[in-house]
Amino acid sequence: MGFKIIAIDGPAGSGKSTISRLVANRIGFVYVKTGEMFRSITYMLIKNSVDIEDVEAVKKVLSNLDLRFEYNKEQQISILEGENITKILTTKEVTKLVSQVSTIKEVRDKVFEYEHSIAKQYDIVMEGRDIGTVVFPNADLKIFLDASVEERSKRGYAQALDEGQIVSYEEIMNSIILRDELDRNKKYGALKIPDDAIVVNSDNSTIENTVNRIVDIIKEKLKI
Ligand code: C5P
Repeated sequence: MGFKIIAIDGPAGSGKSTISRLVANRIGFVYVKTGEMFRSITYMLIKNSVDIEDVEAVKKVLSNLDLRFEYNKEQQISILEGENITKILTTKEVTKLVSQVSTIKEVRDKVFEYEHSIAKQYDIVMEGRDIGTVVFPNADLKIFLDASVEERSKRGYAQALDEGQIVSYEEIMNSIILRDELDRNKKYGALKIPDDAIVVNSDNSTIENTVNRIVDIIKEKLKI
């Protein structure tokens, strides 16, 4: 018997990362954050001043890429050329460019390799946008974590205030609507609900509650 794969997909701001990590911890699976794989490659492209419209230059970087991922109980660690770059993956620079970088076919193919390599080594909870549709269409279980635009905007706004950002609720909401649009209309790896996914809506639900609901589904479906 091979290792188990649980796919969790969903839109930006649905609470996917926090929830997926907690779910993985509860069932003793490794938590894999595929957005950070795209972010690591984006960081490498920035570091090398690559024009991301220049496909040949992007391909060259990808063919010499010295990037690997390590896992501990808490997190996935990105190691680029021997250096731990995990902490710098959420900088504005990377965040601004990553959506566009993730539309490049060659980049998606590279991330696909990392995703499949990790699935050969551990039981995983893998979080992303296209895990249940493209990356692992035969995953043992697919969850689509959803929340309304209003709820996601509220959470984003609270977080922005917390971080001391000066921003309006409307601005946050517009940026979420725009990201949804980009994610849903990508040529490769677009965000959509896999046919056989269980949709979990996190509106009006605490993190703990949502985690419990997902863990219950996993226990029932996977008999673990
Ligand atoms: O999840 P996170 O926000 O870190 O993802 C960063 C970017 O990578 C997102 O803009 C998303 O469009 C892209 N992504 C993707 N496919 C995935 C995971 C993330 O295209 N499986």
